[in-house]
Amino acid sequence: MNIIMMGAQGTGKGTVAGLLKNELNLPHISTGEIFRKNIQEGTELGKIATKYADEGKLVPDEVTNEMVKNRLAEDDCKNGFILDGYPRNLAQAKELDKILAELNTKVDMVVNLNTPTDEIVERVMARRECPKCKRVYNMILNKPKNGEICDDCGVELTSRVDDTEEKLKIRLDTFHTQTKPVIDYYREHGVVRDEEISISINRFAKEVAEDIVADIKA
Ligand code: AMP
Repeated sequence: MNIIMMGAQGTGKGTVAGLLKNELNLPHISTGEIFRKNIQEGTELGKIATKYADEGKLVPDEVTNEMVKNRLAEDDCKNGFILDGYPRNLAQAKELDKILAELNTKVDMVVNLNTPTDEIVERVMARRECPKCKRVYNMILNKPKNGEICDDCGVELTSRVDDTEEKLKIRLDTFHTQTKPVIDYYREHGVVRDEEISISINRFAKEVAEDIVADIKA
């Protein structure tokens, strides 16, 4: 089962993907997380990515596509994967089709998460990450037990460098102009599953993930 998580920043793609990963036993591949790890470790890929990621801009397609191609060829993707943060534009979506065709497989489900914009801004500003184990918290939806300290590591949480209002605006603009057409592309292929995820309707990541799993296992 090959699943793609789509939705604007802060809708909860990573959280839903993490829950699906546990239930479906598939690897969760977050391109943003791979870039951040490479940036932190100072690899060649990280040196290229940092110029774009720190500004809230997309890393060039040739770099991103190559990275995804290599990752999907790894053994743990044999029974499927959950892609989070890729594809982000039509060129990437078409490249993914090629990569999957070479692997004799295809996109089975695209989960499209929708959250009202006001809530998105509030959520992204409340996002915190453990610099050590990378666990993601939210000071509104998913707080640590004590202050801003990681429950697992006891380390002080930090905010992502691109989680500022200024950079979020750039990232949301890119989402609307470049990534939304990808959702339409998959809609034409009949694989999109739309999900509302919002405090206003009391629907959170856990319920969304449970419903998806129930349908897949039905
Ligand atoms: P994310 O954690 O998904 O918000 O990604 C963080 C940053 O990583 C983005 O702002 C981009 O700079 C980069 N990035 C992640 N995925 C992609 C992608 N599919 N294409 C280009 N850049 C990406």
